[in-house]
Amino acid sequence: MDFSFSEEERIFQENLREFLSKELRPMMRRIDSEGIPHEFVKKAASLGIWAMPVSQDVGGQRASFVLSSIAAEEIARADFSMATAVLFLLESGWGYVLDKYGSKELREEVLPRVTSGDWFLGIASTEPTGGSDVSSIKTGAVKRGKEYVMNGQKIYISGVLEAKEWGGGHLTLAKTKQEVGHKGITMFYVPISMEGVEVTKIENMGRSGISSGIIRYNDARVPERYVVGEENRGFYYAMDGFNHARVLVAAACVGAAEAILDIGLEYIKSREVFSKKLKDFQSIAFEAAELRTKLEMARLLTYKAAWMMDTNPGSEEAPMFAAMSKLVAPQTAFEVVKAVMMWMGAYGYTRDALIEMGFRGVVSYLVGAEGAMNVMRLIISKRLLE
Ligand SMILES: Cc1cc2nc3c(=O)[nH]c(=O)nc-3n(C[C@H](O)[C@H](O)[C@H](O)COP(=O)(O)OP(=O)(O)OC[C@H]3O[C@@H](n4cnc5c(N)ncnc54)[C@H](O)[C@@H]3O)c2cc1C
Repeated sequence: MDFSFSEEERIFQENLREFLSKELRPMMRRIDSEGIPHEFVKKAASLGIWAMPVSQDVGGQRASFVLSSIAAEEIARADFSMATAVLFLLESGWGYVLDKYGSKELREEVLPRVTSGDWFLGIASTEPTGGSDVSSIKTGAVKRGKEYVMNGQKIYISGVLEAKEWGGGHLTLAKTKQEVGHKGITMFYVPISMEGVEVTKIENMGRSGISSGIIRYNDARVPERYVVGEENRGFYYAMDGFNHARVLVAAACVGAAEAILDIGLEYIKSREVFSKKLKDFQSIAFEAAELRTKLEMARLLTYKAAWMMDTNPGSEEAPMFAAMSKLVAPQTAFEVVKAVMMWMGAYGYTRDALIEMGFRGVVSYLVGAEGAMNVMRLIISKRLLE
């Protein structure tokens, strides 16, 4: 057994950390208020760190999920508001799905523009009637000749404005067969600029550097060539995408939590109360020890899940490990950010301290992005008890 990264992975991590500390960290506050600059995305893409798992023939690196997790961790360490990490993992996770299941024609139309950082690619699954039970979606697509007429609504969808501004769209789940639950769902690539597709922005409490919104389909005519893979197999493709994206979420939470813990440790080493440094109070020092330990547990689980995605993604264990990593890492990150905020007292609650951005970002992964916590428990318990 070997717990260390390979030489290639270690060098990649070191170089990426250096690049991001110069190019991304100083922009974190600006990203939180104004959004992610498209130039940054294109620069990252030119260095080969965008939609990394996608195949080389359409501009990707065919990188392993371990390497992609290293990138997600480093990006969130540099921008712990989580916005850039979210964008990174959407492109990686859903780029992977389009690459794996899409036709040659569709891959060649969309993926070179995603891997170059020009276009946005996201996932549109959640609807106003609920996100956890994907099989009960109401959006429908009826085949008419060489196109599908799509009607319905998606909500809380990440990247709606980025897709409008930069180009691109979402892998969209719609029912093509009623009354057969998840077996009647097809995945389509739907460009946001398509006629009959309308977007409204939603204001979130955090992760503000990337937009969220509602997408309405009013008789949108989606060409047949935008069907991803086979008709009525969309649910399975989406679950494959969620399993991979969840590991990247976990890696991002680990990176953000570590950056925040580092800030907290520096603070308790210098702040004096009752004539002693905060670190010299055992209640604080022990809490730091607990958090560091829990963070290491989350990291080990995350990289084990990433390794499983690389070595045996079709195994029955792999989705369970992805769910475990997504269950543990956001909760650990939340514990870290909450504790650091307490260590900092009133300062931690101010915008100067930056911590509040991490707090708002991490919560997005507790409430639901890439699957709610109880859905992770559901996946794990089903596997345990079957
Ligand atoms: C910041 C953010 C970004 C997002 N981006 C996207 C996106 O890009 N694309 C997209 O499609 N969706 C996106 N979502 C939506 C996300 O996928 C959903 O929030 C998630 O799937 C949960 O769905 P819901 O919010 O409708 O909650 P519901 O499904 O209504 O669930 C509500 C609560 O019930 C719990 N619950 C559900 N089922 C069970 C059960 N069987 N047993 C016990 N408890 C249960 C859940 O844990 C949750 O706490 C995003 C969400 C957020 C917060």
